[in-house]
This record gives sequence, C-alpha cells and structure tokens, in this order.
Amino acid sequence: MIFMEYDFSKQERRLGKIVFALTLDRKKMTERIVIGETNETRRQLEDGTGNIFYDRTRPLGKFLIDFETDTGMEWNRNAMTLRESYGKAIPLEAARWKMAVPVADFLRGKYASGEPSALFAAIRTWEEYLNCFHLNHGADMLIRRLSALYRPFFLYGGNRTWQEEATAALSKVLREEEAAVELWYPVLKRSFECVVASASFLPLIAYYLHKIEEWGFVFQKCKVCGNDFLARSRHYELCSDDCRKKQAVEAKREFDERAKNDRLEQLHEAAYYYWYNRLRKLKRGEAADLEKAAAVGEAFAAFRKEAVKRKSMVKRGEMKLTDFSSWLVGQQNEVDRLMGE
Ligand SMILES: [Zn+2]
Repeated sequence: MIFMEYDFSKQERRLGKIVFALTLDRKKMTERIVIGETNETRRQLEDGTGNIFYDRTRPLGKFLIDFETDTGMEWNRNAMTLRESYGKAIPLEAARWKMAVPVADFLRGKYASGEPSALFAAIRTWEEYLNCFHLNHGADMLIRRLSALYRPFFLYGGNRTWQEEATAALSKVLREEEAAVELWYPVLKRSFECVVASASFLPLIAYYLHKIEEWGFVFQKCKVCGNDFLARSRHYELCSDDCRKKQAVEAKREFDERAKNDRLEQLHEAAYYYWYNRLRKLKRGEAADLEKAAAVGEAFAAFRKEAVKRKSMVKRGEMKLTDFSSWLVGQQNEVDRLMGE
C-alpha cells in the first residue's frame, strides 16, 4: 500500500481536517489505525481507495503499549518555538518560516518513526501552525490546541498504569472539548465500528481502555521477549508465534539436556560399580589377592579422577557422550587386564 507523504515545508494549508481513526477487532485481536483527511479516511475504510498517510493493522493493544511518550516535554518546547515565530519581534515572514525550520525537522523525525500517535501529532502540529499563522490570536490558539494534543504524551509517559488506574487518571483530565469523539457505525463493507478523533488522543485512549475492560482482556509481559502485550486472559504468557516457537525450542533443548545428563550419570555409575566390584573381589573371600588389590586400587583412583573430568567435559559440550561411553568400555577392559581375566 502506498501512502501519501506529508510535506513539512509547505507554507499553505491545502488539506481538510486530519483525523485519527481507530477500529478494534475483538475476534482477531487486532487494531487498525487510519490517518488522513476525514473524507479520504472514510473512503479508505469503506473500499481501500482513500489517499491517506497511514493505514496499518497491528496486534490489539499496540496503540496503548507503543504510544508516544514525552516526559521531557520536547513536543511542547517545539510548539513554543512555533508560537514565538508568530511574535511581533519577528515582523518579516521569511524570518518566521526560518524559525520554524528546526521544528519541521523535529516533526519529520517523529513522522518517520512510524509510531501512529507521533505521526498524527506531527501532521496536526504543522497543520495547526499553518492554520494559526495569519490569525489575530493565532499564537494563543496554537498553544492551546497543541498542548491538548500533546498532554497524553507526558501523562502516559514512563509510568504506564493500565486499565482502572489509567481510566481514572484520564477521566480526571479529560476536558469537555477533548472528550469529543465521532463514532462511525458499520456500513457496507466496513463491518466494524470506528472511533475517530482529531483534537485529542484522550477519548481514543479512554474508548480503547473501556473496550479492553469490557472484553476482559489483560496486559501481560511476555515470558520470552519481555515485551508488553494484550492477552485474552492471565493464562497467556507469550506474545507471539515467534515467542511460542522460541519457547518450544528451549523446552526441547532442556529436555534433551536432561536426558543426556541422566544417561551420563547412568554410564558413570555402572562403570564405577564395575570397578568397585572387581576390587572388592580382590580384597575379600577365597580369591583375595592383596598385591593385585593394591595395583587395581591405584588404577581405580586414577580412573575415578579421570572419569569426573571427562564427565564435566561432556556436560560442557566439549566431549561427545558416545566418546565418553567408549572410553568407559576401554577402562573396563583395563581393569579386566589387571585382574588377569
Ligand atoms: Zn514475546
């Protein structure tokens, strides 16, 4: 799919209202996000022919998990530069545009990050900048609108507490005008409802969290890769097929390792008793031969030492189990030879 590329050097608004459209699929556990002008977004959702900036379907919860964070308020600092560029101290229009150049670079970087919340905020920032450029109280309006847009970036940032706490925290800061969200009902080929927002992410986040709670899904940390993901219940501990595969491979490796160690111990033990019984025969009973017993005892001690050494080599993967096994057989032949059998 080819998307439109937003131009952060343009000095005139040519676009209509830019919206962020979110669709959640409970059954497939996916989210779809489309970003573009209202009508193009609608067309994209209806038949895939819209000219849009972004359209991606991802695992459910991704929007909340990867949401742009800005604890340092970098977005706000850039907005302040845009605000200053409107100031009376900068009467020449060319000088104003020049001031905005580093901000455009910042926005381009955010746009290129591919994170939809950052991409949307970047477009909206430049659109608002152009919007307010020739207005009387443009500077104040710009800051008011952009700070509403950026607020969840630092509200959410770093300390992400999901569900109950997040919903409670959000409802406290959700102002009347920010709570506005459009709901596009399913029509024709579009079989899902779609929530659409423009001024703020907060109603989208609130809607999303509400749906997750309603469906009883939970955020989990993957046991293999450590990433957060949304799961149907606490029983799901792995985030993806990839991680499931990795865990299966690891489980098999552990099983094989255990089986190898068990076999190793068996072989070692059997060889040990083979020697032990020979030596006992020489020390006791009718066939006792103390001279031979001394020689075999000495060889046994050497064997035990060497066997322990070789066993740990097998454990470390420096020697094959079959080589260890044939070495043990060779040692048995050796003790038989000493016994004179
Ligand atoms: Zn994982």
